[in-house]
Amino acid sequence: MAQSFGVIGLAVMGENIALNIERNGFPIAVYNRSREKTDAFMKNRTEGKNVVPTYSLEEFVAALERPRRILMMVQAGKPVDAVIGQLKPLLDPDDMIIDGGNSLYEDTERRVKELEAAGFNFIGMGVSGGEEGALNGPSLMPGGSKAAYDAIEPIVTKIAAQVDDGPCVTYIGPGGSGHFVKMVHNGIEYGDMQLIAEAYDLLKNVLGLGHKELHEIFAEWNKTEELDSFLIEITANIFTKMDDETGKPLVELIVDKAGQKGTGRWTVMSALDIGVSIPTITAAVNARIMSAIKEERAIAAPQLNGPSASFDGDTKEFVNKIRDALYCSKICSYAQGMDLLSKASDMNGYSLDLGETARIWKGGCIIRAAFLNKIKHAYDQDGKLPNLLLAPEFKQTILDRQSAWREVIATAAKVGIPVPAFSASLDYFDSYRRSRLPQNLTQAQRDYFGAHTYERTDKDGFFHTEWME
Ligand code: NAP
Repeated sequence: MAQSFGVIGLAVMGENIALNIERNGFPIAVYNRSREKTDAFMKNRTEGKNVVPTYSLEEFVAALERPRRILMMVQAGKPVDAVIGQLKPLLDPDDMIIDGGNSLYEDTERRVKELEAAGFNFIGMGVSGGEEGALNGPSLMPGGSKAAYDAIEPIVTKIAAQVDDGPCVTYIGPGGSGHFVKMVHNGIEYGDMQLIAEAYDLLKNVLGLGHKELHEIFAEWNKTEELDSFLIEITANIFTKMDDETGKPLVELIVDKAGQKGTGRWTVMSALDIGVSIPTITAAVNARIMSAIKEERAIAAPQLNGPSASFDGDTKEFVNKIRDALYCSKICSYAQGMDLLSKASDMNGYSLDLGETARIWKGGCIIRAAFLNKIKHAYDQDGKLPNLLLAPEFKQTILDRQSAWREVIATAAKVGIPVPAFSASLDYFDSYRRSRLPQNLTQAQRDYFGAHTYERTDKDGFFHTEWME
């Protein structure tokens, strides 16, 4: 009997998602370029399961029922094109390829066009949740033609994480929309992680708190409706992990150089291309870049002294202010991410449902959080909301807490602790809420040196002035 689903690529993601699919009642065939991975997978993880190993793409396609449904979980970039190129001659019309890797959405746009023109179906599907999510229920962001989605809906709705209001998957939209949404998800993830890192820095280096207290604070924050999230939860857990050799908290032995695989950078680059301001996410990417020049920073450290000021206020009160600053900053970060999705949707014809997008991030993925309910609610109330900052619940929260937020950032500046994502978020809020910014002067300068013209506040049209007269 033919297998109902095929998985190509048996690295960490492919192995786990293959087992998830099989567990949900879909017999699978698997293939990996190097046979060792297939052998190890079959030996270690498939006992008693309906998994057929194959060792060539010919054998793989022959093992699948038609029309074939094939999920690729291979390294993003050239390998995806290479595998598609090898598969194409072996496929029949109406067969479907799903790319579940972190592909650049522009590549997906191209592949959708090429494959649909050749008579095949193609879905670019963002998969979030890492190894654990892939096995037990990821958040899935599939984009491509609706007909192609309908063919995989019975499978993806079963393998996705399940939350109170349904599976964490929905039809995202046409073309590369699934990978675009996954990219922005990752950009938001960069923002969340940087904001948490800044809160940790303030708690540790301004207030001088130890790891037991840090654990307790993050565990407490994780009990609040506002901050209850996977990333806050794992942060609380991280502070309890001691190094076996030294007995010290493991996190303090880790080199402060953050890696990145590129999806945060892609988010920033596409925001710049589209013309959407996402300063918190940009600050998060910059912070990782800054962290990576560790050797240079070590040389600068003894030469560039900061202020000698220290904190002399009430510790408990300031912990709560840091929590408020974190939450206000997080709202701004999501406002930016959702704005990027909204503008990209208009520009590329994705017709994204922003409330539904927030809903499918509630489970399975790295940014899963109770807070996403509020975002879904905000878009349910007003589908044309221009910015999350204008949703009643977020607006009121920020208005109520902005003084705490400002005090935290001012204190950080006074004692010399960088809070780039907290500050970028406040700058975003302060820019968005002002009806007049100083770019009238920028326009005057542009007209002065380049005759670029300017508009006036008191009459219509474009004007040029001879400034040197
Ligand atoms: P990966 O390290 O990104 O890729 C390794 C897999 O790609 C192996 O199966 C490898 O085959 C295959 N491969 C590489 N070049 C190939 C080529 N030219 N032809 C055929 N196969 C090729 O694996 P991963 O971490 O499991 O991730 C898979 C995809 O999911 C990636 O796009 C990744 O970005 C995305 N993703 C990863 C995570 C995560 O937490 N790791 C989360 C979400 C999404 P060989 O064994 O033969 O080398």
